[in-house]
Amino acid sequence: MEMIAQVLRRQGWGALGVDLRTARSGVVTFTLERSALAEARGVGSGKRCALMEGMLRALLAQVAASPMAVREVRCAAEGAATCTFVATGARRDAALRESVESAGGDLAGVLRALGEHA
Ligand SMILES: [Zn+2]
Repeated sequence: MEMIAQVLRRQGWGALGVDLRTARSGVVTFTLERSALAEARGVGSGKRCALMEGMLRALLAQVAASPMAVREVRCAAEGAATCTFVATGARRDAALRESVESAGGDLAGVLRALGEHA
């Protein structure tokens, strides 16, 4: 995971952080500081980091050797301090999408909702 963060930073995508505290329930949270995608358009343009979702999904699927789901919970382009992504197994993609849509940028709410769909 550190290698992925180094590659992203070197290529100018931003500084990736990983929170593994919920990894036992199959959920991992990522933060991206200074997201190039978010900063390219400025604040007030909605979530901008779909490309990063796709990159994380592909990289994590390689690491996990299993299909993954990744969604951006909140984005610097919406005024958040950092971009925040939640990753889990692809079988929970629908639950992840629903919880992100209903949580309105509240990471704890997303993690709680996903816990109920474990
Ligand atoms: Zn973003």
